[in-house]
Amino acid sequence: MCGIVAYTGSKDSAPILVEGLRRLEYRGYDSAGLAVQTPKGVEIRRAVGKLANLDAALRSTPLTGTTGVGHTRWATHGRPNEANAHPHVSGKVAVVHNGIIENHVELRRELEGRGVRFASDTDTEIVAHLVSEARAAGAESLTAAVRSALKRVRGAYAIAVVAGDCPGEIVVAKQDSPLVLGIGQEENFAASDIPALLAYTRDVILLDDGEMARLTSGGIEITVITDGAPVTRESKRIDWSPTQAEKGGYKHFMLKEIHEQPRAIEDTLRGRIDLQAADVIAAEIGVTEEHAKKIGRVYFVACGTSAHAAMAGRYWIEQLARVPATVEIGSEVRSGEPAFLPPDFVVAVSQSGETLDTMAAVKAAKAQGAHVLAVANVVDSAIPRASDGSLYTHAGPEIGVASTKCFTTQLAALLMLAVYLGRRRGTLPEGEARRVLNALWHVPAQMREALTEAEHIKAIAKHHLRARDMLFLGRGTGFPMALEGALKLKEISYIHAEGYAAGEMKHGPIALIDEEMPVVVVCPRDVHYEKTISNLQEVRAREGQVIAICTKGDTDVAKLCLDGAP
Ligand code: GLU
Repeated sequence: MCGIVAYTGSKDSAPILVEGLRRLEYRGYDSAGLAVQTPKGVEIRRAVGKLANLDAALRSTPLTGTTGVGHTRWATHGRPNEANAHPHVSGKVAVVHNGIIENHVELRRELEGRGVRFASDTDTEIVAHLVSEARAAGAESLTAAVRSALKRVRGAYAIAVVAGDCPGEIVVAKQDSPLVLGIGQEENFAASDIPALLAYTRDVILLDDGEMARLTSGGIEITVITDGAPVTRESKRIDWSPTQAEKGGYKHFMLKEIHEQPRAIEDTLRGRIDLQAADVIAAEIGVTEEHAKKIGRVYFVACGTSAHAAMAGRYWIEQLARVPATVEIGSEVRSGEPAFLPPDFVVAVSQSGETLDTMAAVKAAKAQGAHVLAVANVVDSAIPRASDGSLYTHAGPEIGVASTKCFTTQLAALLMLAVYLGRRRGTLPEGEARRVLNALWHVPAQMREALTEAEHIKAIAKHHLRARDMLFLGRGTGFPMALEGALKLKEISYIHAEGYAAGEMKHGPIALIDEEMPVVVVCPRDVHYEKTISNLQEVRAREGQVIAICTKGDTDVAKLCLDGAP
């Protein structure tokens, strides 16, 4: 998520930090800020919106100093306003952070109990206070104070810390969020991605998870967070162009985002799955047990890809929470005169949280007394603001036109919602909930494994390059996946494609199948397997070319496919 830049050397830091943040703009952000060590101590400037606003703030009240940290924020906890923008300050310490602190609620409660006053709603601010407390308790160095603070923290972070009384020194640390160090001549840098550094240096050190570093103009000392053990790491020379670097070495943003999916899902699940209690922890959904039991209907409203995620959500809600559920397309809700009743639980799914048609449906539902939950990726966007509760997907900004990580994180969020409601309605026994959550917990690892198939998938795609039409089939949750697959193909390849419920094939599309027609069949080994395989055989009988999305090692399906590799 978003951007960090840190600089220590002999040049004026603010212009370097702002320029570095500009190079990270492609990552998306909602606010930005700097902390610079000035003769007065650490001073900060922050602004909501584009970097131009921060620039303007710096022009009216400049910051001068040769050590500083900068941040662009993509809000996960607390709305995108100036008070929540980073850096966050406690005493002489200023912190910037990318990621999510999972145990922020309990740590905040603990700190408040000791009389600490919070100036923001962020999870990040607790890190500033913990570092400050550790220093007050006599930590021997800034590094030692950061180390002791991080021992309390669970979650994902890349952080950069400066302190007014530690001139020329920056401490950074990384766990599950990106951070690279840049080595210059009598100056050193840190950033969440390489493009921020390329104007200054091409020699970088990649920090590993669980590592921290102390940067001064004279050097970089890397240690292990937990025990302080020193780490020696060779630097690497980067020969990418700045544009290549933005895409992280991938050919285009969509490919990069496809590969970001495991991380995005981990971030979405972070702190929300309690396997021991077999429950989902998400107070932000805002539904009590009593309320959950009274829900009469779950009414999903969404557009495009989000509507396909909602269709999967509908199956899960019906299955796990045993309540009737329906999915309506935002624009159609707007075109009709939808009737809502107070026991309706409306779930508005929208990546941006600003989709107009979905928003109109939310307004209609609210006006008729229904409870609305927003499932969105952008914190505090219009739809969550208009809703009674919100469940954010934490996918980070998506740049590619076709939704990838936002779609799959919506699926993760909706499955959590189904478990959440199922547990509160008493329809989902503990063991079954644990089985579902455990399966969800393993999805990122399975995705990583599936992504190793990239070359194989590319070869299949090449084979079908000249197809004019394609059919996608699936049953159960495989059906919305088929619809989404067809949508993607249309959007990205301009090949005509249709998604169908596999059981509907005999009612029409079967007539179209011949040796020219590639048919993608979603056929995991689930309860629908046998029926879907019959459909697959019907396709084969008409010489259609089958591309099966199936369970690893399913040689039965593989025999029915073109290249035979499961
Ligand atoms: N969780 C932090 C916040 O909401 C950091 C967000 C980020 O990665 O930019 O402020």
